Amino acid sequence: MSNPTLQAVRGMNDILPDEAQLWLWFEDTVREWLEAYGYRNIRMPLVEPTALFKRAIGEVTDIVEKEMYSFEDGLNGDLLTLRPEGTASCVRAALQHNLLYNAPQRLYYSGAMFRHERPQKGRYRQFHQIGVEALGFAGPDIDAEQILMCARLWKKLGIRDVSLQINTLGDIAARQRHREKLIAYFEQHVAILDADATRRLHTNPLRILDSKNPAMQEIIVGAPGLMAELDAEAVAHFEAVQAILKRHGVAYEINPRLVRGLDYYNRTVFEWVTTRLGAQGTICAGGRFDGLIEQIGGKPAPACGFAMGIERLLALLQEDGMQNPGMPLDVYLVHQGELANQMASSVAEQLRDAGLKIVLHCGGGSFKAQMKKADGSGALCAVIIGDDEAQAGQATLKPLRGGGEQARVALTELQQKISELKGTSKNHPK
Ligand code: ATP
Ligand code: MG
Repeated sequence: MSNPTLQAVRGMNDILPDEAQLWLWFEDTVREWLEAYGYRNIRMPLVEPTALFKRAIGEVTDIVEKEMYSFEDGLNGDLLTLRPEGTASCVRAALQHNLLYNAPQRLYYSGAMFRHERPQKGRYRQFHQIGVEALGFAGPDIDAEQILMCARLWKKLGIRDVSLQINTLGDIAARQRHREKLIAYFEQHVAILDADATRRLHTNPLRILDSKNPAMQEIIVGAPGLMAELDAEAVAHFEAVQAILKRHGVAYEINPRLVRGLDYYNRTVFEWVTTRLGAQGTICAGGRFDGLIEQIGGKPAPACGFAMGIERLLALLQEDGMQNPGMPLDVYLVHQGELANQMASSVAEQLRDAGLKIVLHCGGGSFKAQMKKADGSGALCAVIIGDDEAQAGQATLKPLRGGGEQARVALTELQQKISELKGTSKNHPK
């Protein structure tokens, strides 16, 4: 019986075995896709110094202001935070280990992130991301490549109905000019600003544009745009990204209000969104962050990256009716009698040597009860060893899926027969 007092933390989910199969399939697919673009895996700690995120993400952001799980290390008083995102840690690791010395890096990571948010569908306190970072690349080619990568992944996963929004945030000087114009503009409308926006007016007015408060949409739409402030290089960069997207037939929409939640972005930003997950419609987001490496203590170097939310992607696949794939089990091994028991475990080990996936029945019970387990296991076939079979050095092979008669087989031929069965069942999926 479940104990109601001991439960997982709200917003932090168990992923049970049936669903975990879907995660495994997803992770395999994603790994192949990343390798096709030459990205290499990096694994960072889940906990980092709080100062890293404050410096990288920015003090006046949702994440740093209200979403971080921060605590004092009880043993030495260090201020630590469960990572709310991966870019800051990834850049920290690359700098700490001199990965950028002389060579740009294409890196990816995958794992849990932690944000103290109000849990709802598609929004959790522990969630999982695949993050992709190209460090040391300046040109629009890599921005576009990352967007094309995403388009390829959606196709590979069979995800439909996602659309691409892009924008440019320009460079520091342009953002500074724009910032002053925004402050002047919003100061004329202070009465309409909500508490968040009022607080951000002089610290991070760009974020006001990101607000979803319906009461503020009208003044947000009328706010001065950044496009007018952009300098020639930033315009050329943005146009070059678009030209590559067009050449590859990737449809996009320019959304001048796409500013992203974190301070470190500049120039290209993008989001892939769907209307099919309610308010939590952004499945993947990213952009260029040329200032971040210097910001956290490295020699200045340009970079571009994105992260996708695994829960949201899987929710989209499930919306489309995707079933959790079963575990690919070849054999359920049923046995009874002392000699048979001994033989069964050796047979199981031998079949595993040949690369087959076997569940050896454990815990005894009647043949009938064991066969019921075999039927429910999803295995391709049952191998049955009773006293009769054991004496004769044989086993009974019973196909469980895709038809076929059961037959007695010499143990020496068992592996061969199972492989034949696997071959025909692949050609005739049920
Ligand atoms: P949102 O606007 O939905 O809060 P965000 O801008 O905070 O998203 P990012 O920091 O860009 O999100 O993270 C990249 C992706 O990670 C998001 O597009 C989303 O798919 C996923 N993600 C972010 N926060 C959560 C969360 N709390 N639960 C589940 N997925 C999340
Ligand atoms: Mg958020």
